[in-house]
Amino acid sequence: NSFANLMCNMGNCLISISKLEEANACADNLIKYIESTPNGSESYPVFIVNTFLANLALANGDNNKMNLHLQTALNALETFDDYINHNIDILMFIDLNILLKNYDDVTKISEHFINTCKESNAPFNITSRFMEKRIDCAILLHDDKAYAHFSKEFYEDYKQERNRNSEQTLKAENSHYEQIRLRKRQQILLEKSQHDTLTGLPNRAYLNTYAEETLAKAIQNNTYFGIEILDIDYFKHINDSYGHMEGDRYLKNVAALLQSLTNSDDEIFAARYGGDEFVIVYYNKTSEDIRYLMSQLKLHTTSIKLPKESAVGCKHLTLSQGCFNKIAGEGNRLWDYLSIADVALYEIKEKGRNSFLLKE
Ligand code: GH3
Ligand code: MG
Repeated sequence: NSFANLMCNMGNCLISISKLEEANACADNLIKYIESTPNGSESYPVFIVNTFLANLALANGDNNKMNLHLQTALNALETFDDYINHNIDILMFIDLNILLKNYDDVTKISEHFINTCKESNAPFNITSRFMEKRIDCAILLHDDKAYAHFSKEFYEDYKQERNRNSEQTLKAENSHYEQIRLRKRQQILLEKSQHDTLTGLPNRAYLNTYAEETLAKAIQNNTYFGIEILDIDYFKHINDSYGHMEGDRYLKNVAALLQSLTNSDDEIFAARYGGDEFVIVYYNKTSEDIRYLMSQLKLHTTSIKLPKESAVGCKHLTLSQGCFNKIAGEGNRLWDYLSIADVALYEIKEKGRNSFLLKE
């Protein structure tokens, strides 16, 4: 079938560009091929081949042959109803009949397919094409009654189709927005599960994932990886003196300082580790860079003022910071970084607090 289809298309193209000799050669080949194939007598190949041969006979000026092929094609058409797949071939046959002013046949064929389409609930874009042909035919015949009848039917079907489309569009839009809502909700839940509720900073679970990934990246790129642990000095005392709520407020103040530090640099990440302890992850920072950042943090913490009568012995909050930074190598573990940073922090606490120490 597909070979016959191809040859017929080619033949019709050759006719349309007036290459009759080649079109005739194409027809000869096609006839030989059809005679030698077992399914050559099926209605579809018979239909398309005879449509082409009728078209060719018309171009050759051979009316008898043309009528013969037209009749054979018409007979074949009556026995097949795959109007969806062969839509274009049928429309071409109708056009040929319009050209030949065979309006009775055009009327019969188009009405037959309009009815078949409606019985089987065919899509509007298929049914409408047969309707168009029927309306064209009514215009050519000056048949006002048929023109009014089929135009009305066309319009009503068109409106129904448009309503169906807009209903479907509405449904599709709703499900699209529902998906966006769900995705947003999932995003919010994910954010919540990764962040500390009091300060809004990444929590310990998020820190672990982030730090492991960043350490792996540093090992791969043979670059610096650093972990800092910082802890508020005398925080128990602050809680005891000013109350837990005030304590919370100081925790938020420290978190805000850390947040501003990370906002300005993609390679710095800060998280609340638990209680009054926070952790900073440094990627690709030299020890000199980090010492400067630690000193800046110490400086900015002086802006977190304590009440005058502070029992801490200072007018502002203070932090102790311990850090371990080095070029990451194969076999380095996050745990080792954390424990060395913790030792550094311990040493600072021992030395009197409000200071920082970097080990490398
Ligand atoms: P040091 O200088 O040695 O760090 O002394 P410290 O008093 O700060 O001792 P530590 O760090 O062990 O104390 C942490 C305190 O933080 C203990 C706990 O009551 C308090 N804390 C833990 N979580 C919260 C919280 O969410 N809010 C408040 N307000 N306090 C908390
Ligand atoms: Mg503390």
